[in-house]
Amino acid sequence: MDFIRAGQQLVARGQLTGGTRWLQRRTRFESAEQSHPRRGRICRPVSSAGTGTGLARAPQAGRAAFRDSIGLTRTPERTPLNAKVLRTHDLGDYVLENVIFYSRPETPVPANIYLPKTPPGRRLPAVLSVLGHWLGDGKAAEQNQILAQKLVQLGFLVMTYDAIGHGERNDRGNTHHHAGYSLLPLGETIAGWMVWDSIRAADYLQSRPDVDPQRIGIAGNSGGGLNTLFTSALDSRFRAAVVAGYVFEFQSWMKYGGSHCTCVYLPGLSRSMEWFEIAGLTAPRPLLMLQGARDSIFPRTSARRAGRATEALYSILGEHKNARLDLIPNEPHGLTKPFREAIYGWMKLHLTGSGDGQPISEGEVSALPSNDPRLLCDPDGKLLSGAPSIVQLAIRNAAKIGRSTSREQQLEYVRRLIAPGNEESDLQRVRTVEKLNISGGTREKVVFLSEIGEYVPALLWRPNATKPRMVLIANSKGKAAVDEPSLVEPLLAAAFAVLAVDLRGRGETLATRANGRDNNYHFVSHSIMWGRPLAGRRGFDVSRSVDYVASRPDLSIDGLVAVGVGDVALPVLLASTADTRISRAVSAGYDLSFASQMIAGRNTSREQLLKTWNSGVMANGKLDDGEHQADAGSVIPGVLNVFDLPEFAGMRSDRPLLVCGARNMRSPEQQRAWETEMSRDTRSWFRPDEPFTAELLLSWLR
Ligand SMILES: [Zn+2]
Repeated sequence: MDFIRAGQQLVARGQLTGGTRWLQRRTRFESAEQSHPRRGRICRPVSSAGTGTGLARAPQAGRAAFRDSIGLTRTPERTPLNAKVLRTHDLGDYVLENVIFYSRPETPVPANIYLPKTPPGRRLPAVLSVLGHWLGDGKAAEQNQILAQKLVQLGFLVMTYDAIGHGERNDRGNTHHHAGYSLLPLGETIAGWMVWDSIRAADYLQSRPDVDPQRIGIAGNSGGGLNTLFTSALDSRFRAAVVAGYVFEFQSWMKYGGSHCTCVYLPGLSRSMEWFEIAGLTAPRPLLMLQGARDSIFPRTSARRAGRATEALYSILGEHKNARLDLIPNEPHGLTKPFREAIYGWMKLHLTGSGDGQPISEGEVSALPSNDPRLLCDPDGKLLSGAPSIVQLAIRNAAKIGRSTSREQQLEYVRRLIAPGNEESDLQRVRTVEKLNISGGTREKVVFLSEIGEYVPALLWRPNATKPRMVLIANSKGKAAVDEPSLVEPLLAAAFAVLAVDLRGRGETLATRANGRDNNYHFVSHSIMWGRPLAGRRGFDVSRSVDYVASRPDLSIDGLVAVGVGDVALPVLLASTADTRISRAVSAGYDLSFASQMIAGRNTSREQLLKTWNSGVMANGKLDDGEHQADAGSVIPGVLNVFDLPEFAGMRSDRPLLVCGARNMRSPEQQRAWETEMSRDTRSWFRPDEPFTAELLLSWLR
């Protein structure tokens, strides 16, 4: 299989127009980064793991890039499955087994096996049915039961398990948002954990004497489509796959504002690969793509482009019969009958060699009520209740993570995070909206561009002094929160100018959507998929604010102090570390460790959890368990493999730091790590218990 040749042929035939445009755009973008004039001073080009196009790589390289993005670069250890059949139920036409297996040492996975009543000793073709976001019913969801029963009628053994956060695994700390944002700093993803469960489910299927290990298929809708696409790309033991309700083109979906669960946003994925390139990793194994023509989550235009590009890719490889896109008329997002019938036909052809691969009529199949105890592996909650949640496991893993990065590697990482995002990021277009005389000086409202499309609105207080020194303040509540006489007046009286800025997505730049949510989650999640975490983009805004100060002949850049209050302390720490024009920095009201941002949902009833699973974080991009709070924009994928927050103190050689008003303090170790790092510079102060005030700042500056 030669992807380079295949890609060139697709482009030559005009079959890949969407992909080509995307490729051209990205090539322009990357060459601009390479030649950017700021590069020599504070910025380096991004080198994301997947840079380069999947088409221009061997499939092994494509698979490696995808592994990086999903957080499975290092395959987890294949620990004992300790699988157990807990109960067996004879349900007339079929047999139902409740099974538990361990995908990781402390991660039990409840599963159901649907068995045809065949004579013993036969090895059956098997289908792994993976779940969409059926949080409450999980594997017991009616549509999932019907799919399994009909496949049994057709002679298959079917396995279905509760995905993380679903069904019997729907616990606080396992919801995709909270688990997902907790795994990201470790360089892992919730999707990677879901895929690992499916890989281990295949291990279990292959271990059964009644399964033919060479004839295993995988199918799922929505989140199950995601799981199918990603698992099949990485595990060639799946000989046939059906991805339903998850066929789309990343670029157009993001461009038109698509928004969904955290499991969709793999770090840097949209920079390194398109959907059809991931689908291409399943080639030449049979892949059916199903999308409802009325799907409002992943609309049909995007699905058509992704599906057609995948079909074209298979056809170049000489396997055109093995990929097919069916856009199902009039169907919304879901696993309704037409989807299921398409799955039956595809599995029948490709796992048993019979039929033509077209849909097979389902007939009448009735499901058990989804609360029937026979569908549960752990009806009294004894087996699963002791298992740690994903958030708990992430916190534990963060505490024992080993790092061997040098200071220079850490600095390089920080420089990349705040590198320019586009080719004209030196363009500033300053506008002064208003200038007023106030007691002791002037107050201006100004707006300047950070980069194309990203305006920074700012307030500037300037004392009546020649070339005053500058205190630059970013507050996560926006610049209006800086406009406090108790803060601004003492600084002006001490002859400091004050510039308060709204970093992107804060203050005036945080829009509210028609559905009542604000744009923060959208901003955060898309930045992750783009491979440009929001904290770094906001750090770039801080550095651009310094550019603005430098452009004003009536202000001094010498001795510039940058202050970050709340979550935007992180962008200030990033910018002030990489941009040496910032002499001193303040982190106020922020965390002491990235591990403090690993936060489960609120402690609430299961019913409430089911209602809020996707709205709590999607409403405003905030993680909040009632005691600890963090903005999801503070989460940087993989950062804990490079450094943790206390190491900012060590990276800043000769430029003092003030840390005050720490929040989310979890352990004395976090505090001790800071004290050790800060003790190297007597001008740096560590005051975790003191709130940020003008008096504290001025006494530190004296
Ligand atoms: Zn999800």
